[in-house]
Amino acid sequence: ESLAGHLPTRLKGLDEALCGGIPFGVLTELVGPSGIGKTQFCLKLSLLASLPANFGGLDGQVIYIDVESKFSSKRLIEIGMKSFPEIFHKKGMAQEMAGRILILRPTSLSEFAESLHQIKISLIHQHVKLLIIDSMAALVLGEYDCGASRQQALGCHVSFIKSLAEFSRIPVVVTNQVRSQIGDEPLMYSFQAQNHSRKKDNHAAYDSHLVAALGINWAHAVTIRLVLEAKSGQRFIKLAKSPISPPLAFPFNITSSGVVL
Ligand code: ATP
Ligand code: MG
Repeated sequence: ESLAGHLPTRLKGLDEALCGGIPFGVLTELVGPSGIGKTQFCLKLSLLASLPANFGGLDGQVIYIDVESKFSSKRLIEIGMKSFPEIFHKKGMAQEMAGRILILRPTSLSEFAESLHQIKISLIHQHVKLLIIDSMAALVLGEYDCGASRQQALGCHVSFIKSLAEFSRIPVVVTNQVRSQIGDEPLMYSFQAQNHSRKKDNHAAYDSHLVAALGINWAHAVTIRLVLEAKSGQRFIKLAKSPISPPLAFPFNITSSGVVL
């Protein structure tokens, strides 16, 4: 994995824990409740993948599967203007950067499958350096209400997405929304060391929710899982699954410049 490279997030501690950033060739999942910053994080990654190499970017194209129409090129350009003014204030550059991100909006799982096959073709011919699916659960939950058929259909897509990552050797980032099943409390389990029973309960709620939505195949297909959560008004990003790092957590904020530590 490390031979294939990384897309740095520019969140210092996180990049160190990930040995350089979001790894190429595997699936990275961003999970957390609504409004925590999953899409904001994806916008930032899209920007970093499309930036010219002399600014530390991958100088590539991004395929962004925007299931819930939450992508905003206006917000992307705002983040770019604030974070990389040298590039984004040059004439025509903001549009060029935004133009490197190809937005797909499938309305069903079958349309999604079709776009995956098109993506496979464009991965061969183009300079695609990042694939984002925001969000997988929304796509899946929108389509079926029968658990069995949904999970069957999904199992096959999960293998295909995984093979896309392996074959193209690019980072594949997928978001999933979770909510606490204990009342309406936000997910804040990992920072309640003094209340161990709730911590355990919330972990179970998180797992069972995702497994119910996406099936057990999904949980196993993901190599890196980043959990975004909030406690007392502070957002945290937690490396919840990693082959190389213990479960570290880093505080972050969302400003006009995007996701920052
Ligand atoms: P969902 O699961 O509903 O898609 P999400 O995890 O993708 O949620 P985001 O849309 O990434 O959530 O985050 C939304 C939050 O980002 C807003 O609530 C706001 O706090 C913050 N945000 C968005 N734009 C700005 C901005 N220009 N300046 C500061 N904060 C912003
Ligand atoms: Mg979102």
